[in-house]
Amino acid sequence: MSIQEKDKKYIWHPFTQMKTAGGHTPIVSGEGLYIYTEDGQKLMDAVSSWWTTAHGHSHPVIAEAVYSQFKTLDHVIFAGFTHPKAVELSERIIQKLPYLDKIFFSDNGSTAVEIAIKMAFQYWYNRGEQKTKMIAFKNAYHGDTFGAMSVGGRSEFNKAFFPFLFDVIYIDVPTPGNEELTKQQLKEAIKDNDVAAFIFEPLVQGAAGMIMYSSDVLEELLSIVRSKKILAIADEVMTGFGRTGKLFATDYIVNKPDIVTLSKGLTGGVMAMGLTICKDEIYDAFLSDDHSKTFFHGHSFTGNPIACAAACASLDLFDDVKTWEQINMIREAHQSFAQKITGNSRLKNVRQIGTILAMEFNTNESTSYFNSFRDELYAYFLERNILLRPLGNVLYILPPYCIEKEELETIYTAIETFLEG
Ligand code: PMP
Repeated sequence: MSIQEKDKKYIWHPFTQMKTAGGHTPIVSGEGLYIYTEDGQKLMDAVSSWWTTAHGHSHPVIAEAVYSQFKTLDHVIFAGFTHPKAVELSERIIQKLPYLDKIFFSDNGSTAVEIAIKMAFQYWYNRGEQKTKMIAFKNAYHGDTFGAMSVGGRSEFNKAFFPFLFDVIYIDVPTPGNEELTKQQLKEAIKDNDVAAFIFEPLVQGAAGMIMYSSDVLEELLSIVRSKKILAIADEVMTGFGRTGKLFATDYIVNKPDIVTLSKGLTGGVMAMGLTICKDEIYDAFLSDDHSKTFFHGHSFTGNPIACAAACASLDLFDDVKTWEQINMIREAHQSFAQKITGNSRLKNVRQIGTILAMEFNTNESTSYFNSFRDELYAYFLERNILLRPLGNVLYILPPYCIEKEELETIYTAIETFLEG
């Protein structure tokens, strides 16, 4: 049997209707921007493999760090023990998020969010205050575990679980023109003093279709929640590590969150790891002689040394000015291409921040993940050896930072040709 046939026999793929899905293309290697299929096709990974690959595939600096760590210490229980790479990574992350103090390790974006939610609820519980509600944006996506699903927008994605999801107060996303409405809704939502936290994807709602809003309005929303001492949780799982043009999207604001979640680009996108980072004020609420105030949460692979080594190597790359030159080059290239295509009759909207460029196509159907135009877009670019994975009728580019200007031009030209067709 071929790899593809065995795949079909044994594997259930994520976010996939297996009844209608075609075969899954075997990828046998990756280097830089490219992934290589079993039959030798070279594809541009223009979406950084689900927004993870920050510096490009099989980066030698990260590969070396991972191999070296593997030979030294592969894994160790993280309760009762610690290790140098976890400590190094934590110190370096706190230096980059200096308004936060303590780091809790886990395995992915969903667990990082799950932990943030549990921390927030238990923070109030430990203080003897009943706060049982969360505020989130409509259409939010924070992951697929139950807590993360609960604070995500209610949709086809989680319909089967509606009875099991906790109540959340949803407010509109403050997209241009919508800011006042959102502020009003937020003020209304916090009236009763029963809200534990406000969770949000800062500046860009990724899975919702790369929906963007300004740092000015986020600043205002955060000062509103702060007035009631509601915890602010910034889910930077997608926006973190340079995607918005700064290391973190929350670097654009002065009203800082109380909790930040990170994953995806954290390890340069090569190892599964999530971080939930909080202020001492939250951490201190768990310090007690009373067992019930302990944060009883943990995963077998908490603080895995190999993942920590990958993350430290990735931070070395972020400390290199060349990475930022690349990020700026991508930002500028995206900006001028966005200008060029803005107003095209096939496009409803073009939006861009940092290294993310998104365009929403006019179709006969409404804008949604399930818009059938998606398949046409996906196939068109794949035939031209460019992997773009549209969110319904929203096409976006979110490339690894190693991409060259000429490679970006190749993608832009393909998009222009499609627009003309
Ligand atoms: N939060 C955000 C903002 C995300 O974009 C994602 C994943 N796309 C997650 C959480 C969940 O991360 P993971 O897929 O690693 O569980």
